[in-house]
Amino acid sequence: MNAISQNNFFDVIVVGGGASGMMAAGRAGERGKRVLLLEKNRELGKKLKITGGGRCNITSAEFNAKELLARYGKAEPFLHSPFSQFGVKNTFSFFESKGLPLVVQENKRAFPKTEKALDVFRALERYLSKNHIAIQTGARVSQILTKDKTVSGVLANGKEYGCSSVILASGGMSHPETGSTGDGFAMLKNLGHSVQTPTPSIVPLTVQDPWVKRLAGISLPLARISFFLNGKKIFSKTGEILFTHFGLSGPCVLNSAQKVGDMLHEGEVTAAIDPYPNVSWQTLEKQILNAFQTNPNKTVVNALKKILPQGTARVFSFLVQGVTGKEKSNSVTREQRDRIAHALKNLTATVTGLMGLDKAVVVDGGVDLKEIDTKTMQSKLCANLFVTGDLLHINRPSGGYSLQLCWTTGYVAGNNA
Ligand SMILES: Cc1cc2nc3c(=O)[nH]c(=O)nc-3n(C[C@H](O)[C@H](O)[C@H](O)COP(=O)(O)OP(=O)(O)OC[C@H]3O[C@@H](n4cnc5c(N)ncnc54)[C@H](O)[C@@H]3O)c2cc1C
Repeated sequence: MNAISQNNFFDVIVVGGGASGMMAAGRAGERGKRVLLLEKNRELGKKLKITGGGRCNITSAEFNAKELLARYGKAEPFLHSPFSQFGVKNTFSFFESKGLPLVVQENKRAFPKTEKALDVFRALERYLSKNHIAIQTGARVSQILTKDKTVSGVLANGKEYGCSSVILASGGMSHPETGSTGDGFAMLKNLGHSVQTPTPSIVPLTVQDPWVKRLAGISLPLARISFFLNGKKIFSKTGEILFTHFGLSGPCVLNSAQKVGDMLHEGEVTAAIDPYPNVSWQTLEKQILNAFQTNPNKTVVNALKKILPQGTARVFSFLVQGVTGKEKSNSVTREQRDRIAHALKNLTATVTGLMGLDKAVVVDGGVDLKEIDTKTMQSKLCANLFVTGDLLHINRPSGGYSLQLCWTTGYVAGNNA
């Protein structure tokens, strides 16, 4: 045991007291293991407490396993086993048995009935306390110690702690102020693991609307983009916007990504683009009228060529409801003209995620799943090392899928460590 005293030796050491680490520690303790939870912040669960805008979208109430797992993309085959051990139903019964009833809201998003992330944290805190988990905060783990490719302990604040198993639950790299600064990735790389480094939060947005994709390559040098959460305006930015084959980019969009990532955790996010931020819709309407009067026999899109933002003529019918653009200018009614002016100042698209990073989501990056045993979450390169939560390279959409991954992988690791 080297210099490690009996007091510094544990069956299981959990590194990181976030969602997956708290679940893993509690479960290992429930099995009668002597567990130490090391957390570098002064408090546990900093990120958990801000999830879902403070309401915590705790899981997705998708009880059809096939449908649910399909949302995790390429990781689906890997997740069959862990989800058969602890799935969505288990999440409901786990929290409800700890005095935290859940409710299902729109798009199958499940929340605690109290709509308070803090209550989720408190339920986990009770789980830790009931199972006698030793907790040390302000303890930053810098190294996982090994002997013959088997875990022997960890180094925290320069002090060695011995253990039979380590559960690494130190999170990814999103919102580093919550403690997830990528330490776990560095430790995994040191042990020979392949880690895809997560991309930073300045990323383009993916959208579902075909008209955006058909404008790929076109940019609006000065436009305003406003973002809405469940129909309510949250913020706007003005600057260059670029349309791409996957969605929206350009400085103005890139700099909005972090905030949009957070919003995606809370509900439906739509964007409204105004290509004429310095022109009122009444002025635009007058310009449209003038163009129609000057070119009465031209089609709508031909008459508007000088007014329409570059390239948008080809997607005109997607943008303005009830006007195809092929009508003769002199056949357009006043009501249709108003509609054209309003629509052109309000090009809407539904945001589906962040490119390369589901920050809110969370992150496209992490340890290669080929190097993790699907039944136990144990590393295939280092015996008795278990990996959970955001450290795993699993892409997923917003809607409770990230925390469900934490409950599932945390439980499975705690059940096997
Ligand atoms: C703003 C925001 C809102 C979100 N909302 C939702 C939501 O509503 N629903 C949903 O499903 N998902 C949501 N997510 C994603 C979800 O919060 C994460 O997927 C989840 O918290 C990851 O848990 P984790 O246990 O892997 O890591 P984390 O929660 O990041 O916890 C890791 C812990 O490890 C500690 N740590 C790191 N390095 C060390 C070290 N070297 N030594 C000791 N301790 C260390 C950290 O301080 C931290 O406490 C949201 C994310 C963000 C950023």
